[in-house]
Amino acid sequence: MINKETIDKVIESAKVEEIISDFITLKKRGVNLLGLCPFHNEKTPSFTVSPSKGIYKCFGCGAAGDSVSFIMAHEHLSYPDAIRYIAAKYKIIIEEEQFSQEDSEQKSIKESLFAVNHFAQEFFTNYLINDDKGRAIGLSYFKEREIEYKFIEKFKLGFCPDEGNTFSKYATDNGYNKEILIKAGLSKDKGNEQLQDVYQSRVIFPIHNITGRIVAFGARILTSDKSKPKYINSPETDIYHKSNVLYGIYFAKNSIIKEDNCYLVEGYTDVISLHQAGIENVVASSGTSLTTEQIKLIRRFSSNITILYDGDSAGIKAAFRGIDMILAEGLNVKIVLFPENEDPDSFAKKHSSNEVIEFLSQNSKDFIKFKTNVLLEETKGDPVKKASMLKDIISTIAEIPDALMRSIYVKECSELIDIEEKTIYNELNKILKSKIAKTPAEKEIIDNIQSSDKANDSALQSLDENEYSSNQQEKELIRFLLNYGEEFIEIEVENEKKKRESLSFPIALVIINELLSDDTTIDEPIFNEIFNEYKKLFENNEKHITKKLLSSENKEITRMIIDLISEKYSISKNWEEKLQTHITTEKSALKQTMFEIIYFLKLKRVTIQLNEIGKQLKQENIDDNTMLSLIIKQKNILEIKKTIAMKLSIIINK
Ligand SMILES: [Zn+2]
Repeated sequence: MINKETIDKVIESAKVEEIISDFITLKKRGVNLLGLCPFHNEKTPSFTVSPSKGIYKCFGCGAAGDSVSFIMAHEHLSYPDAIRYIAAKYKIIIEEEQFSQEDSEQKSIKESLFAVNHFAQEFFTNYLINDDKGRAIGLSYFKEREIEYKFIEKFKLGFCPDEGNTFSKYATDNGYNKEILIKAGLSKDKGNEQLQDVYQSRVIFPIHNITGRIVAFGARILTSDKSKPKYINSPETDIYHKSNVLYGIYFAKNSIIKEDNCYLVEGYTDVISLHQAGIENVVASSGTSLTTEQIKLIRRFSSNITILYDGDSAGIKAAFRGIDMILAEGLNVKIVLFPENEDPDSFAKKHSSNEVIEFLSQNSKDFIKFKTNVLLEETKGDPVKKASMLKDIISTIAEIPDALMRSIYVKECSELIDIEEKTIYNELNKILKSKIAKTPAEKEIIDNIQSSDKANDSALQSLDENEYSSNQQEKELIRFLLNYGEEFIEIEVENEKKKRESLSFPIALVIINELLSDDTTIDEPIFNEIFNEYKKLFENNEKHITKKLLSSENKEITRMIIDLISEKYSISKNWEEKLQTHITTEKSALKQTMFEIIYFLKLKRVTIQLNEIGKQLKQENIDDNTMLSLIIKQKNILEIKKTIAMKLSIIINK
């Protein structure tokens, strides 16, 4: 268990914009920052980050929260692990209370995997650089491949000794247990109590996740032994899902943002060689063919991908597949094919940095030109083949989700192949229709879903309106408390010498006392709960209370708080103008608004009570005693109502 002081410190230090911009590109929009939501597919940014409030909210999918919940959702971490993540970022030392067996077991698997990978990387790199044998075999291999020392260090390359158990023995001697070494895919059990190194005699490429931690390894054989695989990769583990990982993403992300383009290559050495040539916005889908998850990972940083593949037929096939997948995710794709028998790695070595950069910019073709060129070459005037080629290209255009983009490519395609646009559209529409619904029955289902969605929407809207009127005042009060509770206002009070003087009080204190003074209750359970939680923290002299409430484990509460403090929350028309001018003016306006809200809430409360009494008085068979007590009650409440209304009118007419 992390102790409370540490959690508070972490929450207070965390800057939501700094946390989130480690993962997605944020652009300034007024007081907020805006970016593409990492939690749903979108092309127009609706993901808003409010630095002053410490929250994010997506107006597309509704995802919302603070720094901690962002890390939890994005990195799939538990609450304590998210706290640890942020603590590490801000170099806050975690003070743990004694932690339970269960806690330590839960956190231990992932953390142990990270730890053992880190340990292994340091061992492999150290062996490569400092051991005679490591230098003779591993380092000379990298030298042969012209990988500079600086980049060996940057990518933390290594070498696993060839004795067969050197690493495993060193790791167990250092306290790493057998199970975790096997789980991480670093060692295997030979059945004779001895562990064996999985990567024996191989050079090592550590694979970093987006935050720079090592999640896996790729290990390449150095001999030409055909009976063994050329590469061995780590198995899938709790921290490594290969379809979600791109080699080099950690070193590339800033450059991808800056260049607004990401080069996609095939191998580890392609990535490293391009870095050496000064091109850093490059990643590889090593160990797997390109996946949708990997494309989504790139999309967090840029919507432009350039595929750099070999010019052989396997490379072209892979490029074709990549094009369709990238287009389907709504990104733009270009392709560069390298000359015969060249790949990005070999090409980068034969040419200067400037030549490489120039080659890439001159040879990147949009996918239509690329596909047409390749296919025209294949069909060579054969009309039957030409027709099937056209279908092939149109099916690729059909992958593009955006209609405007599609029309641009239809035009280009028509010019390139010399076929009327209308003909292309006919074919395109056929594909698009069949994509939406494969059978008439499916079509009917789709139609039904769409109309019921609309019905649901309007039902929700009217529900909202009802709720709005019944607890509007309570909502206003809580919203005000959350936004301004810790601001100070001047209030006139009587001092001991019966003289009036102006003193500063936090708004939260005034609100709490006002409600307590005449037992004004908050009826809506969720507002009541937020109020009580706020009150509790306030009475404990806590600071940044709203921020702390956001890390509540009750999701309903955090969601409501975010709604109440985020920009797009529409306050009632009556308040809107007042609040907006008040916020921008001085604190006396804040004070006025606060009292308006409090008195309107009280006024509503006494009105409800009066209505209730009125109903009871109208009942038949009411006995005299009851009637008398009801009338006295009514009189008292009417007095209170008058006072409130008077105070309110003074405030309103000020
Ligand atoms: Zn979203």
